[in-house]
Amino acid sequence: MMATRTDINGISELQQRASRANRPIRGIISDLDGVAYRDDDPIPGSVQAFRGWHERGVPYAFVTNNSTKSAAQFAAKLNGMGIPATAAQVFNTISAVSILLQQRWRPGTPVFAIGEQPLLEALEESGYRLTGTDAEVVVLGFDAGLNYAKLRGAIRAALAGATVIATNPDVLTPVHDGYDPCVGVLTAAVAAAVPSATPIVVGKPHPFMIEQALKHLGTRKEETVMIGDQIATDIVAGQRAGLRTILIASDVPFNAVTGVVPERIITSLLDLVDVVSEETGAA
Ligand SMILES: [Mg+2]
Repeated sequence: MMATRTDINGISELQQRASRANRPIRGIISDLDGVAYRDDDPIPGSVQAFRGWHERGVPYAFVTNNSTKSAAQFAAKLNGMGIPATAAQVFNTISAVSILLQQRWRPGTPVFAIGEQPLLEALEESGYRLTGTDAEVVVLGFDAGLNYAKLRGAIRAALAGATVIATNPDVLTPVHDGYDPCVGVLTAAVAAAVPSATPIVVGKPHPFMIEQALKHLGTRKEETVMIGDQIATDIVAGQRAGLRTILIASDVPFNAVTGVVPERIITSLLDLVDVVSEETGAA
């Protein structure tokens, strides 16, 4: 028998991993940017893979740290590329932030938010009052119209004691001609000015959205995979949620995370098409 580092109830970590890897895949949770598409172009193979799973009745859902579109808008973007999707299959940080607020702050709480229209609308629809002063909560989301006045508003609210919530930790986001700064850069600026304001980050690597997606699929954890292109967010979040994880090696560089190894690394979603079992083909 191979020497192993860890034994859990007599079953080695390697044996556990091997037995999980042999289980069929019956449900798929996928990242969007870098897996389904990059900017406005589908990643090669993604349309064919998702269409194949759709036609065979394999359940799938999408999780994204992006807060610039509503679930319905993401579904429309996917459908426009030929990937069948409904709003119910998309889990993004807009709904994650709204749920967190509803769990911890009463309706009507004043919120200072930086973000684009879908995020701001969702906060208002969830019952929160968007304000420039006296905010109890600061929400930081992606905003292509970020400016000094918005940054000042967030920092002044944080200085006055507001809780800071960030939609996601990503510092860069891939676009067609390179990378754009993302929410992590804004969060770092606020934290630099107000070190006492430890931001709550709701997107991946927090497993919250993946847990919601898993509930939607209704598949078992050991038969569900999280597919992503980033170890620090997708793979860590998938493992925290107890899922099997697959890294797609795309042209978007990823940072290795000590001790975090995906079950499999693929170069195209087409590598997975044949290993995914149909629900009706249960052993
Ligand atoms: Mg990605």
